[in-house]
Order: sequence, then structure tokens, then C-alpha cells
Amino acid sequence: MTFSLNSVFADRPVTIFQVMTALANKHGAINLGQGFPDEDGPQDILEAAARALVEGPNQYAPVAGVPALRQAVARANKRFYDLDIDWETETLVVAGATEGLAAAFLALLRPGDEAIIFAPFYDCYAPMIEAAGARPVVVSLSPPDWRIDEGALRAAVSGRTKLIVLNTPHNPTGHIVAREELEIIAALVREKDLLAVCDEVYEHLTFDGRAHIPLMTLPGMRERTIRIGSAGKTFSLTGWRIGYLTGPAPLITAAMKAHQYVAYACPAHLQSAIAMGLDKPDAYYEALASSMRRKRDLCRQGLKAAGFDTLAVEGAYFMSVDIRSVGREDDVAFCEEIAEKAKVAAVPVSSFYLTRSEAPRYYARFCFCKKREVLEEASRRLKAYFS
Ligand code: PMP
Repeated sequence: MTFSLNSVFADRPVTIFQVMTALANKHGAINLGQGFPDEDGPQDILEAAARALVEGPNQYAPVAGVPALRQAVARANKRFYDLDIDWETETLVVAGATEGLAAAFLALLRPGDEAIIFAPFYDCYAPMIEAAGARPVVVSLSPPDWRIDEGALRAAVSGRTKLIVLNTPHNPTGHIVAREELEIIAALVREKDLLAVCDEVYEHLTFDGRAHIPLMTLPGMRERTIRIGSAGKTFSLTGWRIGYLTGPAPLITAAMKAHQYVAYACPAHLQSAIAMGLDKPDAYYEALASSMRRKRDLCRQGLKAAGFDTLAVEGAYFMSVDIRSVGREDDVAFCEEIAEKAKVAAVPVSSFYLTRSEAPRYYARFCFCKKREVLEEASRRLKAYFS
């Protein structure tokens, strides 16, 4: 039997992360494809969640989130960005940033609207924008620095444009969007009366003294922006599926109404544990970033030793290589080859575009949020294979 299903989902393949993880498992490869840490987050957060699970309550949490977590989200916004957030009306707990993005798109977009996304982009943006009945309009960033070009961005705006999606620090490129780039976006958003959805899941993973600047902190953006964070990234607990939205009350209320029909609520015991985590002293956040910076440096060293040209990484936990440096031309074929033969998995950067035809084919992304010995073994394998 054939059914006509929703083509937004039915006509898309499973995500590249599932494909490369399956390939890594099949070939016994080290998985530097999918972006998840191989060490769990802080023990005290795990124990707090375990205690809360046993002590209960284990019934539905409030739809918008447990007050302790929403208050902690508001405090974190003040501490890190000097943003004054009313926890009761301006925060929302979601089932990971992924569901937060979905809730934001479902809430803000109407059929016929257009949403601007910068390519390469995290894979859930386009399908969820389409699921809301809107159209993703792609603005391509140019390697190797992936900076936002004002002309290209302005050319993408039409009378139907509703919002701009911004991800910084950026997956897969590791670029931190600089203040000058933010100003270009903010000026356009104000001028054209748009909204912004900011995916800031890597907000605490910034290197070499570079600061993460939320678009929301720029003049006029406070009332037009939804900012999305993720406990998965900030506490290395990607399996918990806890994220949080911050924004002006009308936008957060709308997102809450979408969230209530998608996830309804998130697990209470995980929320109270993450609330404790967000209040950790600055030393926690500094150690998170510096440990990841050391992993970045180790990863770069290993990839260079194997013969790759690596691209700069300012934040997040991904490093791209130019595969032409090892005589390859096609990123998909390259990723299949190294998973099978070198036994290391990466992901092709062209999979972060709407279609491969508009994508550069020369970049592969390695994820470095892995134990030192894992990164060292991956480097050894790549070096052995390519020499
Ligand atoms: N946005 C970006 C840019 C990401 O890299 C990820 C996770 N890889 C997400 C959103 C999803 O985060 P979460 O696990 O909290 O859903």
C-alpha cells in the first residue's frame, strides 16, 4: 500500500548523524561524526536528578517548566549577558533546543511566510520551518571564515520575510558571529520589522578570549528575539533533552502554546537538577570552555599531522578540514571512505545545506568533544591511513 504522507518528513532521508553513526558502528569506527560528548556532565547534577526522581513528584511538570529552572534561566541571563528577564512570562523549558526551535517556528511562522537561514545550517531548521507552512530562504556563508555578508543577506529579504534564524557559536563551522555581523542583522530586523530566532546552544563554548554576544542584547532586539539554550551542551547531558527559551512575553507565550501540543511538559526531576547546574560558579563555565579548547587544540594537531588543512574554530565543538589537502574532492565519498578504511567517522559539511548542489563539497566536520585518548587514537588512525 502507498499512502501520501507529509512530504516535509516522508521525502527526507534520516539525518546524516544517524547515517554516519550507523556507518561508524558497522565498521567499528571512532565516531567523530555525531556531536555528543563521551563523558557525562557533573556528578552533582546527576545525583540531584536521581534524588528528585526517587523523591518525586513524578507527575506532569508545569507546561512552561519547573519554576526553579525558569528562575535559574532568568538569573543566568542576568549573570552572563546583563539581560533582565521575567522568569514567569519570558522563559520556557523545552525538550532540548530541537523542540524549542520547533516550538518557535510553529508559533511565529504563518503559511506563506519566509524564514532566512544561513547555510551551512543545523539540520532541523528547514524541515521545521516547512512544517509550519513557511519557506526557508537560504543565505550561504563563504568559507573559510563563514562571515555574514550584508549584501547577500539583504538580497534574501522579501515582503514575506518574517524572521531570521541565527546560530552562534555556529555548527558546523565553529564561527562565533562577531558584533559587526550582529549589527548587520539587527539593523535589518529593525528596519524590516522582523523577528529573530537565535540558536545559542554553544553559548558557553567559546575559545581564545572570544565572547559570545546574544543578538538579543543589541539595541531594539530585546522585544524581537527568542534565544535558545541547551542543557545538553552546557552540561554535557545531551540525552536529557532539556533546553530553554528566553524572549519577550508575547513570543514566549506563543511558543509555550506550540510546546504544549508537541511535548506538553518536560521531566521534572531533570529540570530541578539543571536549575542547580545553571547556578554553578563561573569556575564551572570557565573549566568547560578551557577543557574543550584543549580538545580542540589536540584535534587540530592530530588532523594536521594526518595531512589535513584545518579551518579555524572559535567556538562550539566541531572542526572542519579541507579534504583537498589529502587529495579528495567529494565530502560524502570521503566520509564513507574514512569510516570504512581509516575507521574514523566524520560528517560531510554539504549535508548542512538544502541541496548538495548549492554546497561546497570540500569540507568534512570532525567533532572533538571526546576523551583525550579517543582523539589521539582517531589521529593515529587517520595518520596511518593517509600516509
Ligand atoms: N542547534 C545546534 C546548532 C546544535 O548543534 C544542536 C545539537 N547538535 C541543537 C540545536 C540541538 O540541541 P538539543 O540537543 O538541545 O536539542
